[in-house]
Amino acid sequence: MEISPDIFEDTQTAFANLSNGDLQKAKALFTLVGNNSLVNLGSTLANLALSLHLPVSPLFKFSVYNHFCGGETFSECKKTIQKLETSHVGVLLNYGVELKETEEDFDKTITKNLEAIEFAGKNKSVKALCIKITGFARFFLFEKIQLGEKLSIEERKELAAVKKRFEKLCDAALKNEVSLYVDAEESWIQNPLDELVEEAMAKYNGECCTVFNTFQLYRCDRLEYLLQQIEKAKAGNYFLGAKLVRGAYMEKERERATEMNYTSPIHKNKKTVDKDFDEAIKICLSTIAHVYFCVASHSESSNLFAMKQMDKLKIARNSDRVFFSQLYGMGDNMTFNQAKLGFNATKYLPYGPVRDVIPYLMRRAQENTSVAGQTGRELLLIKKEIERRKNC
Ligand SMILES: Cc1cc2nc3c(=O)[nH]c(=O)nc-3n(C[C@H](O)[C@H](O)[C@H](O)COP(=O)(O)OP(=O)(O)OC[C@H]3O[C@@H](n4cnc5c(N)ncnc54)[C@H](O)[C@@H]3O)c2cc1C
Repeated sequence: MEISPDIFEDTQTAFANLSNGDLQKAKALFTLVGNNSLVNLGSTLANLALSLHLPVSPLFKFSVYNHFCGGETFSECKKTIQKLETSHVGVLLNYGVELKETEEDFDKTITKNLEAIEFAGKNKSVKALCIKITGFARFFLFEKIQLGEKLSIEERKELAAVKKRFEKLCDAALKNEVSLYVDAEESWIQNPLDELVEEAMAKYNGECCTVFNTFQLYRCDRLEYLLQQIEKAKAGNYFLGAKLVRGAYMEKERERATEMNYTSPIHKNKKTVDKDFDEAIKICLSTIAHVYFCVASHSESSNLFAMKQMDKLKIARNSDRVFFSQLYGMGDNMTFNQAKLGFNATKYLPYGPVRDVIPYLMRRAQENTSVAGQTGRELLLIKKEIERRKNC
């Protein structure tokens, strides 16, 4: 089937999985998320409820949680995964619990992720597990390493434990034939994170592509880093795994750069970011013999660009080298239409106990208000589909 320029306007395909009731709920949710003051108030109240150990309302689970998350348990997730599978949409699974600080928490995160890898191994439409290294390591340890400061004996032991945990995950991923997508984080800890992932790619990506790093194209230096990584993979005879994103910490990065008086590593404007993002797609496609990659974006223009380029270069739409991904609960107009056209479409699906996933959800909601046009676009498409159904 041809890719028409208005392919992402097909709301019938996009929302086929949603009942009329689900659509009304989504409409209410995106109206709320589109309001900055309500989001900020909601975040404050949620954080207050958490710190006071108040019970989290079932209303929260029924509304926000169910819209953006797969479920609290694997059996709940399985229902969501099977529903997506009927539309040929795969899943990138993510244990949505963020930023813990004790060794006990870190070990718990590893146990949870090992369970998820096993689960993914048995569910072929789970294409990868997404992990954050700071989910099982102390943020400030990496900050210290990046600053070039000498680690104490205790800290060296701590780093060795982090490496061991990461290795455990990589071993399990390889054994279960599941890919491991490692998130990119703040630029002031990213160098040592990159180093860990690079080592893992050289070790685990010889036969197939198990470990993926994330490239944040809002950073001025990442296109060059991508090119360098491809050369390194070629020379080392392993595959480069690349998740391409624009980057989630723009405001934080800029604030820190201003406060600490250094040049921000982030591009000055969105246009330059968009240019680099599409250039990264082009680079990955032109070196596809050495690269497996994922276009992780809600940009319709970048998604369309990648799809058209694949057709132009005669790369099979279902090639296991190229995946597309949008967050569960957002960008359905892209995901489901990509799947319908035969591309490898996936949803980034967080799961975990409602209470523990709240910080992820609050970040999502706040991010939404800062992502220009995104919420408005979601709402517009939902309203369009509600109208279409009324007229059927
Ligand atoms: C599956 C998936 C995985 C992800 N994993 C990660 C990850 O590991 N690490 C991470 O950091 N993020 C990650 N993200 C989030 C991602 O980086 C973006 O924040 C988010 O997807 C919005 O970008 P976009 O391409 O979807 O949409 P768009 O709306 O096209 O782009 C919005 C983004 O453009 C950039 N931008 C906007 N305005 C400006 C400006 N004035 N100047 C410079 N840049 C600007 C920002 O990065 C902003 O988030 C992930 C997203 C998805 C869908």
